Parts: sequence; structure tokens; C-alpha cells
Amino acid sequence: MTQHSTKDFQAADAQHYLHPFTDFKDLASKGSRIITKAEGAYIYTNDGQKLLDGMSGLWCCNLGYTQPAINKAVADQMNELPYYNSFFQCSHPAAIELSKELASVSPAHMNNVFYTNSGSEGNDTVLRLVRRYWDLKKQPNKRVIISRENAYHGSTVAAASLGGMSYVHNQFGKLPNIEHVAQPYWFKEGGELSREEFGVQAAKALEDKILELGVENVAAFIAEPIQGAGGVIIPPETYWPEVQKILNKYDILFVSDEVIFGFGRTGKWFGCDYYGTKPDLINFAKAVTNGFQPLGGVMIGDKVADVLKSDGGEFAHGFTYSGHPAACAAALATIKIMKDENIVDKVANDLGPYFGKRMAELSDHPMVGEVRTLGMVGAIELVKNKETRERYDSDGTAGATCRDASIANDLVMRATGDNMIIAPPLTLTHEQIDELVTKAKAALDQAYETLQ
Ligand code: PLP
Repeated sequence: MTQHSTKDFQAADAQHYLHPFTDFKDLASKGSRIITKAEGAYIYTNDGQKLLDGMSGLWCCNLGYTQPAINKAVADQMNELPYYNSFFQCSHPAAIELSKELASVSPAHMNNVFYTNSGSEGNDTVLRLVRRYWDLKKQPNKRVIISRENAYHGSTVAAASLGGMSYVHNQFGKLPNIEHVAQPYWFKEGGELSREEFGVQAAKALEDKILELGVENVAAFIAEPIQGAGGVIIPPETYWPEVQKILNKYDILFVSDEVIFGFGRTGKWFGCDYYGTKPDLINFAKAVTNGFQPLGGVMIGDKVADVLKSDGGEFAHGFTYSGHPAACAAALATIKIMKDENIVDKVANDLGPYFGKRMAELSDHPMVGEVRTLGMVGAIELVKNKETRERYDSDGTAGATCRDASIANDLVMRATGDNMIIAPPLTLTHEQIDELVTKAKAALDQAYETLQ
């Protein structure tokens, strides 16, 4: 790639490149951060700043940036069979092998996969699968999918409709037959209730909604095991068991959107394994290829797969790049590394507990209302007053200030409102976790001073 000065890159970037989820005017005035190199857990800017990547790219490079076995697998596949499709009764070894591997790491009742290129396309696929299932079951009136407020499910029209972020709906509206219920966000919405009581109450909101809509109209419930982009909202322990009971009681399909929490982040292969839920569909993407190739998909439980594979006829859905050979090769190499290096166990028994312990030390900081962690993910919730949980005046200001301070201290943290989000590679050493916490503390100090 041609090297340019950062100013030249920024000027061309602002002139020609419309970035996702970006205020274009703001970007043009401030200039983008140009990343030119990555190694291990670090990224480097065009100006040579080295930053510890506390976000694994965009929650995807779970094994860090240096994984030569994945690069080689992709290169070998490109030399052997760079492309072929899976339409018209064609297939190829990489997609077949990967489908077997995915069945081996996902819950026992999940033995089929439909490939997409992204998490958003996965959720479009979810919508199609859910409708198809109930049509084939001769219950075509079951149309409504219930999701949650503040959920993020992606950016195609269907995925954005399933998402529960009001500022997204305000720009684009949403598809019909999608409803939202309260999220289990105890710190913000729990009031005087204990965590446990609030978890049960949040689950009850789902039951109330099912009854309000009529069981005969409700097709599915979709949720992330932990809301990720919404602020790493780790639900109270009581939430998921109650939700699962409700879904069983009314025979509602359950879609676990594991685009962030699939592939080890919680210390289990999937978030549903961590919480002991039993989804009918799992949407995955991101870390399946360590972010090195675009690949997503939906794992389909036997209950749904059996119906689709019976006398359903053609499932009229698919993408040119469904099961792209190079992406499948990247995923196979990623899963092999995860297995060979016991990444999931390491997160559960070593890195996760150490990360949790070190992060908890930040709770004492004067602007920290709560530190939440689970496995290798965490959030630091910023408040103006620790006792009353009063927030800074305009939601997001403290977060943006802290994010900028974090970058200045050579650490990538993401801000969602006033939550600082951290989801570092699962390959960090203890020393790198120490480094992350030290830098996060420096960012908090700096932000606190700025906001006084
Ligand atoms: N679902 C969840 C839970 C996500 O976090 C995301 C992206 O962050 C998506 C879906 C959309 O995935 P993609 O950006 O690959 O379309």
C-alpha cells in the first residue's frame, strides 16, 4: 500500500469514504485515525502510535492480529479453490469441513448451519428461517419476533429493525411484526430492587408482551446473551433461567445472537453454554474467523432443521458468498487454534478471573459507578455521583471524554453512552491485562480531571 502523510490520508478519507456509524461532518473536521499495522494485541497508527487494542478490532480479533496459521490457510485455499458457490446442489470441502466443526463446538442439538457474510445478514436469515418454520408448521399467523430495547442486531433493514436502539429506528423506521421489551439493565433501571428481583421482573416483561400480543401470534424471541454494543449489560443471574422457562411454556422459538459472545469470550464456546439456555437458532460472525475474513452464519437446532429438511421444498434464500471457501478456511484455522491452545478453558479458568479481579480495582475510582465483567469482557459505567448514580449532564459526554483520554494513553476502549467497553483479545498475557488496567486507570484520571 502506498504510504502517505496522515494529513493526506485524512483528506482523501474525508473526501471519498463514508464510514459506518459516523458523523461525516465531524470526521471531516477532526480527521480519522489511520491504522496501518497490527501485531499481537497492538495496533499502530500511521504516525507510529502503538495502542493496546482493548476491543479486539470490533469484537472480532479474539486471537489477536498475529495468527500466521490463519493467513496460510486462507492463502492455500485461494490457490486451491478461490471461489465456488453453494447454490444448485454444489458444495466444496472447506464449507463441508467447517459445518462439521461448527456442529462439534456448538450445543449438541445444533447440527446444521446456514452461511452468511456478516452478523446482520445472519439476522435477516433468522427472520426468514423463523417465518419459514412456522409456515411449514401450518401456523402462518405466528409472525411477531420479540426483541429487547437497546439491543444491537446489525444494520440491514431487518437486523436494524430487530435491534432496539431508538436512534436507529428514528432514522429508518422499522419493519412490522417486531416488538421490543425491557432489557435486564440493573444498574440503570433496577431502582430499589435487588439484582435478583430485577432479573425476574425483566423476564416477566417478556411474558407480559407474549400475552399482550397473543401466543398464537408470537414466533420468536431474539436476544444477545449479554447486550454487547448496548453497553455490556450483564444480566442478573435470575434473568436467563426465567426467560427460558417462559419460552418453553409458550413454545416460542429462541434466537441467541452470539455475534459477539460466540467463540470463547465468556469462557464457554457460546454465551448460551454459559447461561445454560437452549436456543433454536444461534447467529454468529466476527470471531469465527478471528475477523480475518468476512463470515457469519446461523446454527440451526434440530427442531427447526428437521422441519426445514422434511417436505418443505426450496428455502428461497442465500448469498453469492454463502460459505465462501477462503472465509471457511479462515474459520477452520481459527477453531483449530482455539482447540489446540485451549483458549476457552484459559478464559474460564485463568484469564477471565484475572481480568475480572484487576478490573474490579477500578470500582474505587470517583467517576466509576460500576465495573461489570464476565470472562474477557467488561464495562466501566461512568457516573457523576457514585452514591446516587447520578450521571453527567448529557449522556455520552463522559464516555467520549474518557474514550479520547484512553486513546491518548495508548489504549483502545469503546464508549457506549457513559459505558466504557472492553473486550480484549483472549490471548492477552497477565502482564498485558495489567497494562490494560493501568492505562484504563490513567484514562479515568484524565477524564475525571477534564470533567471537573
Ligand atoms: N448482532 C450482534 C449482537 C452484533 O454485535 C453485531 C455487530 O456488532 C451484529 C449482529 C451485526 O454484525 P455485522 O456487523 O457483522 O453485520
